[in-house]
Amino acid sequence: MRDATRIVRAGAPPASQGAPFLPGPTFASVFHLAGDPASAPFQYGRFHNPTWSAFEAALTELEGGPALVFPSGMAATYAVMATLVAPGGRLVMTGDAYYTARGVAQRHLVPRGIEVVQAADAVALRAAIPGAQVVWVETPSNPLLEIYDIRALSAAARQAGALLVVDNTTPTVGGQVALALGADVSLASDTKALCGHSDVVLGHVAVRDPAHAERLRVWRTETGAIAGPMEVWLAHRSLGSLDVRLERMCANALGVATWLQARPDVLQTLYPGLPNHPGHDVARAQMQRFGPVVSFELRSAAAAHAFLESSALIHEATSFGGLHTSGERRARWGGDPVGPGFIRLSLGCEHLDDLLEDLAQALERAAAAD
Ligand SMILES: *Cc1c(COP(=O)(O)O)cnc(C)c1O
Repeated sequence: MRDATRIVRAGAPPASQGAPFLPGPTFASVFHLAGDPASAPFQYGRFHNPTWSAFEAALTELEGGPALVFPSGMAATYAVMATLVAPGGRLVMTGDAYYTARGVAQRHLVPRGIEVVQAADAVALRAAIPGAQVVWVETPSNPLLEIYDIRALSAAARQAGALLVVDNTTPTVGGQVALALGADVSLASDTKALCGHSDVVLGHVAVRDPAHAERLRVWRTETGAIAGPMEVWLAHRSLGSLDVRLERMCANALGVATWLQARPDVLQTLYPGLPNHPGHDVARAQMQRFGPVVSFELRSAAAAHAFLESSALIHEATSFGGLHTSGERRARWGGDPVGPGFIRLSLGCEHLDDLLEDLAQALERAAAAD
């Protein structure tokens, strides 16, 4: 079966006369539980929930390893950090990994006796792997859309006795299957393209080794980092259209990136799907789709501001991966090593021609404001 078909059907129960295709959310904190607790599939709402089980079955099938749902991408991130790196160990991260993931490692792991290395580039990353317990990469990274070679890094990590964690948020499992490429852990903020409707905050982790899944499950149960059934059900409902959404969004991203690249008023355009992107060959070898995010740079903060203000179709917002095209001037947050006119754009499911017309008029206004 092709990926597109698997995505539509993943995690749905077998056909049963009179039953819905996807059962609705189960709202339960307690379940009937008489006698021996082991005799009941569900006991208490912090331990498990049938709605989680269905979504996790879908993710397990698509990721290729046992998956657990968490209430946010950061809850998934910290669960992995807390269970897979021990005091005295070393965590090596790419310096452009998600800002809050790097912050949480510094603020919560370092005081617990874990060495955290933030590697400035791929060479420094490789150099810090010997002696590490966990190697952490985000690929494509955001907002700079750097590509890291998952196969090569997993081989280097394995040789050093380390685990490779891939933050797979930007491509989603529909665009890159990190475990199949050799990663030990694939984690994602499902808040972004996996859910894709800008209405849910959620995350998940999928792992190669069932023993790691068990450690994560115990962590989730004991710390109570659990998602609500409604959010998980919305995510599962949204997952069915992931392939169709990605197809449109990634085609729009390539169309917009190609168009932006030809504009003299755009200083640089970053998209791994562009043949001149430095990571293009690796991206082609490891991704099914190049993702919905395109970054580009205008000459100044004023130009970027005028561009976003003039666009009728770009919702100015943080986050990415939704149905609606959105964008923001990243330097407004601080924290990213980007210029004042740097814009991260997330292409949605609109028609490409409407987007290009809108971008053209917004760039004219931006040029006037510069
Ligand atoms: C958004 C994001 C996260 C954090 O996810 P939340 O769902 O906001 O907690 C982690 N990694 C990446 C790459 C992200 O974009």
